[in-house]
Amino acid sequence: MAGIYIHIPFCKKACHYCDFHFSTSLKYKEAMVEVLCKELVLRKDEFSGVTVETIYFGGGTPSLLSLEELQKIIAVVYQEYKVIATPEITLEANPDDLTEEKIIALSKSPVNRLSIGIQSFFEEDLEMMNRAHNAKEAQLCLTIAKQYFDNITIDLIYGIPGMSMERWQQNIEYALAHKIPHISCYALTVEPQTALEKLIEKGRVAPVKDSLALAHFEYLIEALEKEGFEHYEFSNFGQSEYYSKNNTAYWLGKKYIGIGPSAHSYNGKDRSWNINNNIKYIKAITENELPSEIEELTTEDRYNEYVMTGLRTKWGVSLTRIKDEFGIKYQEYISVQMQHHLKEKVLNLDKNILTITKKGKFLSDGIAADLFFVD
Ligand code: SF4
Repeated sequence: MAGIYIHIPFCKKACHYCDFHFSTSLKYKEAMVEVLCKELVLRKDEFSGVTVETIYFGGGTPSLLSLEELQKIIAVVYQEYKVIATPEITLEANPDDLTEEKIIALSKSPVNRLSIGIQSFFEEDLEMMNRAHNAKEAQLCLTIAKQYFDNITIDLIYGIPGMSMERWQQNIEYALAHKIPHISCYALTVEPQTALEKLIEKGRVAPVKDSLALAHFEYLIEALEKEGFEHYEFSNFGQSEYYSKNNTAYWLGKKYIGIGPSAHSYNGKDRSWNINNNIKYIKAITENELPSEIEELTTEDRYNEYVMTGLRTKWGVSLTRIKDEFGIKYQEYISVQMQHHLKEKVLNLDKNILTITKKGKFLSDGIAADLFFVD
């Protein structure tokens, strides 16, 4: 089981909170598609003997690509890699790109899962975040997409400055009314060097209190679980059969190749990442060079990553796997470190699997950090 992630580094506008790699100039879009295809060819040996089960177009804004451009990239994947009969092929899309015409065309393409960046159904929130779409487009694209796609997920953001509890509840109600099978929700975080950070520093935007973001999160879990969604990862809620196969493979430590500027890859031992500069990326790939850096992960790094990602999921952290994969030293270490959290009832141990309890959910990253092995 392995996945291919393809990063499309273009956006119409820069959202105030975003620290992903993208350019708002589409000048190099055609050249980019060419070199993405070329990188797929250059790296095919990394997946020799491996079957691709998921293909994920992320960004940036992949829905800025034309259908022909998407199909060209997918064709190269099929040509150069071994792909299962029905892979999950996800396209991240923004509402303003999803006209009825585009949705119909996509539904006839190999893309079988849409991940739509709704973020909020309210104009005030969308303007505050500098999103490219408006509230009407957020609703309309979902109404149309539902007619042509079964597997749809949307992203929503909570803890937005100025977002009341009532507005957040209304957002969830709107999402549920569309009867989509999967929802991802993220707390708005203030990343360094973003426009949002500057707006807060200048006092033009008031920072959100942690207690309000926590209240949003708690309401979210309650409302979605009541509607039959399973909270299977910290930010992800899905009805059975609709979990993200791509992301689940990533959380379970499977291999993936990241194609495109800034994309990360993991081969089971090492992590690598491509340069986050479109022009330098295009130049290097054109000259048959991979513009990437590699980090060899130590056993300690892999143990820490497993604890971090595992505690965020419903599958938790297996103490047996820790012993088998990293060694008895790590199993003994976590067995001591977890005691305090078991007493506090923020962790639960059952059949040698450690999971976060309801009480510990919002604290999972801090708890994981306490279980990290630092030599
Ligand atoms: S559309 Fe997505 S990638 Fe582009 S700026 Fe907004 S949040 Fe970032």
